[in-house]
Amino acid sequence: AFVFSEPNFDAHEQVVFACEPKSGLKAIIAVHNTNLGPAMGGCRMWNYRDEAQAVNDVLRLSRGMTYKNAVAGLPIGGGKSVIIGNPKTDKTPALFEALGEALERLGGRYVTAEDVGTHHHDMAHVASKTSYVAGLGASGDPSPYTALGCFVGAQAAVKHHLGRDSMEGLVVALQGLGNVGYDYARRLKQAGARLIVADIDQAALERAQAELGAQVVAVEAIYDVEADIYAPCALGATLNLGTLDRLKARIVAGAANNQLATAEIGELLRQKGVLYAPDFVINAGGIIKVCYEYLDKPENEVEAHVRRIGETLAEVFVRADREQLPTSTVADRLAEARFKR
Ligand code: NAD
Repeated sequence: AFVFSEPNFDAHEQVVFACEPKSGLKAIIAVHNTNLGPAMGGCRMWNYRDEAQAVNDVLRLSRGMTYKNAVAGLPIGGGKSVIIGNPKTDKTPALFEALGEALERLGGRYVTAEDVGTHHHDMAHVASKTSYVAGLGASGDPSPYTALGCFVGAQAAVKHHLGRDSMEGLVVALQGLGNVGYDYARRLKQAGARLIVADIDQAALERAQAELGAQVVAVEAIYDVEADIYAPCALGATLNLGTLDRLKARIVAGAANNQLATAEIGELLRQKGVLYAPDFVINAGGIIKVCYEYLDKPENEVEAHVRRIGETLAEVFVRADREQLPTSTVADRLAEARFKR
């Protein structure tokens, strides 16, 4: 009895366990909420320790997508799928075709996309069996839009918390110079910020030093640097009881998913006077782009929509001050006001 009692089960509309023995497919498709439209969220492939861990992951992630998509003002609901298996050794075209057949049986209530462990090549196999796949790579990587959302989000935070219209001279401690982080760093630099960066990838660090004049620190030292903004763009749960006291930044604005190790950290950040731009609000640029593409909405309107992330965050910050609540709680309530009936 681990499904209904799972804390993240929340109010999931439908959870499908899809199994296809010939290809070896074992997938869980979680449709959290479709009040605003078909549930959209990526398909993760992971070598889960056991089935309970896979259930926990898919339920947690699908619920998160409902909140992210609702706050972003998209006409879609929230869902997610996971394939149990090793993405390095267990991938076959048949596996993804079988997933496509399972999605087809759901009749469009859930639309998938690539995620951790899956690639748009895999999604092409899914697409041979169903049209309920988004982000097939037709117009490229959504990361630049995620980076744009982070940048306008950081601008909104600076305006609200530091009373400044400009990034000139601000110091940003940026963790993770990947697809999103590097582009975000480039925008910050263009706006006059000074970058202190950490990554485990030496080549990315060298490029940031050469192109952006970034100062490099050791991976663990990023939490201790004197900075105005901390920008987590690598891993989740970096805001935790071990890092909170070390952070000097007054603003947290970064792309990583699930930045708060536990919900209580949101309140602790507030008490410390740190303005936290909730992850699922600030990092929605990519899903906005993917959603526009899937729904055939005009490409030239994507940027304006992504820029509205700044306005949404400004609204969250004002409400959080007024109600003396963590920004993360206010963002949850904003989402719920949109998707709950
Ligand atoms: P990525 O894999 O391209 O980049 C991650 C970077 O972090 C890499 O350069 C990696 O070397 C570095 N890294 C890994 N471990 C690290 C550590 N311990 N310390 C410092 N750096 C470390 O991923 P991405 O697409 O840029 O996404 C970054 C984050 O943003 C992820 O958490 C992702 O879930 C989230 N996100 C991405 C998008 C998107 O559009 N790509 C959208 C929403 C959220």
